[in-house]
Amino acid sequence: MIYDDEKQHDRSLDARTNEAVKELTSLLGESRLLLDQSSFERFGVDRSPGWTARPCAIALPENTLEVQSIVQIARRHSLGIVPSGGRTGLCGGAVAAAGELVVALDRMNRVMDVDPADRSVTVQAGMITAQLQTLAAEKGWFYPVDFASSGSSQIGGNIATNAGGIRVIRYGMTRAQISGIVAVDGRGEILGLNRGLAKNNTGPDFRHLFVGSEGIFGIITEATVQLLPAPGPSKVMLFALQGFPAILRLLSEFSNSLEINAFEFLSHNALERVTARLAASSPVAPAPFYALVEFEPATEADEERAVSIFEQGLERGEIVDAVLAGSEAQARAIWRLRESISETLSPWKPWKNDISVRVGRLGAFIERASALVAEGDDELELVWYGHIGDGNIHLNILKPDRLSAEEFAERCSPVAKGFAMLLQEFGGSVSAEHGIGLLKRDYLKYSRSEAEISALRAIKGIFDPDGIMNPGKLLPGP
Ligand SMILES: Cc1cc2nc3c(=O)[nH]c(=O)nc-3n(C[C@H](O)[C@H](O)[C@H](O)COP(=O)(O)OP(=O)(O)OC[C@H]3O[C@@H](n4cnc5c(N)ncnc54)[C@H](O)[C@@H]3O)c2cc1C
Repeated sequence: MIYDDEKQHDRSLDARTNEAVKELTSLLGESRLLLDQSSFERFGVDRSPGWTARPCAIALPENTLEVQSIVQIARRHSLGIVPSGGRTGLCGGAVAAAGELVVALDRMNRVMDVDPADRSVTVQAGMITAQLQTLAAEKGWFYPVDFASSGSSQIGGNIATNAGGIRVIRYGMTRAQISGIVAVDGRGEILGLNRGLAKNNTGPDFRHLFVGSEGIFGIITEATVQLLPAPGPSKVMLFALQGFPAILRLLSEFSNSLEINAFEFLSHNALERVTARLAASSPVAPAPFYALVEFEPATEADEERAVSIFEQGLERGEIVDAVLAGSEAQARAIWRLRESISETLSPWKPWKNDISVRVGRLGAFIERASALVAEGDDELELVWYGHIGDGNIHLNILKPDRLSAEEFAERCSPVAKGFAMLLQEFGGSVSAEHGIGLLKRDYLKYSRSEAEISALRAIKGIFDPDGIMNPGKLLPGP
């Protein structure tokens, strides 16, 4: 339909929305179709800064059939839907800023099935990640995906973003743990994808299309999660290192001879700021870089091997200092230094970036990227840290006090484009684990070819022919 003017368009939009809201209220009742401003502000944004929540309503379904009815109503009235998990995302993926209906899975947190023979559980997609970890532990099993926001994020959101975290180097991303997905697509069809099977060679596996799909194909309502045997006791070491090549040597020595759970990286200014905020002292001598290594020693000889890696590095002058946690409490204290970085930096309202390149190229990349910021603007401070064992680093540019948010965004804009181009040159990814959302859709083309992007658009058209699922996210504008 062509509208004569903006106002007529708005009126028509309002009428359609009102009709949809009426139908949704009769489906869910007033207690599960929220229309108040404080709910809009709570459910309409994620953890990335700068968005204004403007949804038309918040729907709180309790099961897959209700989600299906919601999608059918929204489709009939051409209403955009934003699937919403724990809203811990960092790229605006769960933001409803243009009158969309938010479908929040918060009330869908039931355990549907526990299968001891398969060592798997089927849960509703709104289950909090940490609850899934606890559920696994209660059965004597293990769910390995873990990161600083796992106390709030949901398994559905983790699947939709293919969340990574601190143990990817050993266990892989969320994708590796998911053996089945139930989703309602944008047509309102319920899809049961792979149904928990270990082997299913019946053609392409659509389950994997939904992993990392950021809600643009449909709403994930249930997941079958493949759990692991509980791991053995682990050891944690913190190394202070002279330069980037020393980090890469340490990584390869550990990974060639020991079972590593995590290999994390902190720059000097990251550690300095965290210790200041926590009023803690650094357990190692100062150095340009630090690596936190968690490994699982099978025998005493493994622990001796870790110590000898340290001694040899010290002799070569690559390692400045190291500490091996002697107790659970010490190990937790070391981990706390790494896990508190994001929160520590948040008062500086940082411009965040989460990127990856192949591990062997990280040193050269960091050098070129740091020079890019310094050349462009010597007032901007750059803080590097990340899950370096899998090539993933988070870089944060801190906002100088004297700049307003707008001025800061303007200053970062050329850097953002420069980073994206550098990543393209290095064959890296503009988003290692947080996703694309609204924030990075204009940069997708630096990591994915035009042919890939047009194929993605075509696939969206199949699952979501009317374009109602998370409109404007992930895909760049036409
Ligand atoms: C302090 C902090 C640390 C973090 N560390 C990490 C980290 O180490 N690794 C990492 O990967 N991420 C990390 N994140 C980012 C974030 O926690 C993850 O992306 C997480 O997987 C998002 O889950 P969520 O449930 O909060 O999803 P949301 O933020 O609610 O949504 C994320 C995206 O998924 C879609 N979505 C949500 N639920 C569904 C569903 N049921 N069906 C379909 N689509 C859905 C949304 O529309 C949106 O596009 C961190 C965030 C914070 C705040």
